[in-house]
This record gives sequence, C-alpha cells and structure tokens, in this order.
Amino acid sequence: MGTVVRITVDSPDDPVAAIRDAFARIAEIDRRLSDYKPDSEVNRLCRRRSILASDDLLRVLRASLDIAAESAGAFDVTLGPVIRLWREARRTRRLPEPAALIEAADRTGLANVQVRGREIALLIPGMQLDFGGIAKGYAAGEALNILRTRGFPRSLVAASGDLALGDPPDGEPGWRVEIRQFDDRRVLMEKNCGISTSGDTEQFVEIDGHRYSHIIDPHTLQPVAERLSVTVIAPEPILADALDTTLYVMPEAGRPALLGKHPDARAEIRRL
Ligand code: AMP
Ligand code: MG
Repeated sequence: MGTVVRITVDSPDDPVAAIRDAFARIAEIDRRLSDYKPDSEVNRLCRRRSILASDDLLRVLRASLDIAAESAGAFDVTLGPVIRLWREARRTRRLPEPAALIEAADRTGLANVQVRGREIALLIPGMQLDFGGIAKGYAAGEALNILRTRGFPRSLVAASGDLALGDPPDGEPGWRVEIRQFDDRRVLMEKNCGISTSGDTEQFVEIDGHRYSHIIDPHTLQPVAERLSVTVIAPEPILADALDTTLYVMPEAGRPALLGKHPDARAEIRRL
C-alpha cells in the first residue's frame, strides 16, 4: 500500500501473535488491491479483463461503485490510466501531454465495469482500476476486525491518514486523535469508527510554480486545484476513506447531498 501501518493495543495480555495476524491481513489485502504490484489480483483483472474475484476485491469495488453513484462519478476507481500519468508527472516534474490525457481517459469509465455475482468484467482493453482512495481505510478496518476477534477490542490501526478505532483504552472515554488541517489542530476523542484525512500536505508536486494534488477531478482530468484538507469520521473506516477523497473532488454545492446520504458520518473541511 506504500504506507506505514501502526497498530496500538491496550491489553494486559500479550497481543504479539494477534498483531502479526492483523499485519498479515493487511498484506493479503495489499496483494489483492494494490495497483503497484504487477501480480496483484486487481492487476490480473486489468490484464485478463474478467475474473472470479475474491471477497476483498468485490467488497471494495462494490463500495467504490456505490460512492461513485452517490457522487455523480466524482469518486471514480476507473481513473487509473489518468492517475498514472499524473503520478509520472510527480516523478518527472513535467505535466502530462494533453493528447496523452485524452488517450488515457478513453480507457476509463464506470460504465465499463460490470459485476455479476463473483465475476468482474472490464468492458474495454487497457483499463486500470485504482483503489488508492479507499483501500487503506478498508485494510485498517479489516486489521481491527482481526484484533477484535482475537480478543483485543481496545485497539487502533493507523494506515498513515486512515485510522480504524476500536474500543477505547481501559478507563478512557475514547482514543485521543490529533487532527491537523493546515494551521488548525484539534484533538478528537473517538471510538469504534474510522477517521480519514485527505489533504495536499503530503502528496503534491509543484511545476512552474503551480501546485498539483494527487486527487483527480474526473470531469477535467486535472488534479483538484483547490488546496483542501478533508477529514471524515464515519462508523466504518472504508466509508471514511471513500468519503474523504470524494468530498475533496466534489464541488462545495454537492457535498451536503452526499453527506445527507450518510447521516452517521461527519466531515471537517478546511481550505488553505
Ligand atoms: P486519499 O488519500 O484517500 O484521498 O486517496 C487519494 C488516492 O485516490 C490517489 O492517490 C489516487 O490513487 C486515488 N484517486 C485520485 N483521484 C480519485 C478520484 N477522483 N476517485 C477515486 N480515486 C481517486
Ligand atoms: Mg480516501
């Protein structure tokens, strides 16, 4: 997943074996969902265009398609070919050629993904699914589930900006989580939820004095121009992760309607 995962457990018992299993679960999800690993399940799907998929891939794809439908396509996991061009731009510090962006966009489109039972089919060649906006939250939540079932409910899993919080430490009302949004710092006390932050503070590139974020607007094929920091607190970590990226992309006017569909989730959005 290209990220550091930290696990915190509060227990009088030795949690080492359970923590190992939780990390193994994250590695398993990474082998399935990573678009960086050539042999991942998702990359096999992209090459073969049709597979009988694992539960992990099906769950994350279904959740992604749900959020896509709720956001008029602002959250779009088929943007992989376009995202790869912008990743390349981050490395080379040269903007993608407009023609290359248009060619890549021809290989995207949510309507080109079909799910029937366990079968996932991609309807055109050269597609690339990218679960970078949702997989870390899912993985953190799954690791937390392992810890819970192994008898360590008072646990916290942090996959960089994506947190999965279990029961609070003994005698505490919640986990103390510091949220940094530009100059704004707040401490939250939360439990049994996911907290995800999407912002341009870590991943961006500056080309000709212009700052480009790692989140792409599917309508323009360009990185979102605004400098935002979006934190979402939701009952499920996968939802918190999907929503932070989606709210980052969506125009301000569309955000209340999306949040209205998730009354248990709340968002803190700051603009630089
Ligand atoms: P996050 O840090 O959770 O906001 O996720 C950012 C990642 O989501 C990026 O690095 C891309 O892999 C992916 N991504 C970028 N733009 C979009 C988009 N419009 N819809 C879905 N995923 C995206
Ligand atoms: Mg996200």
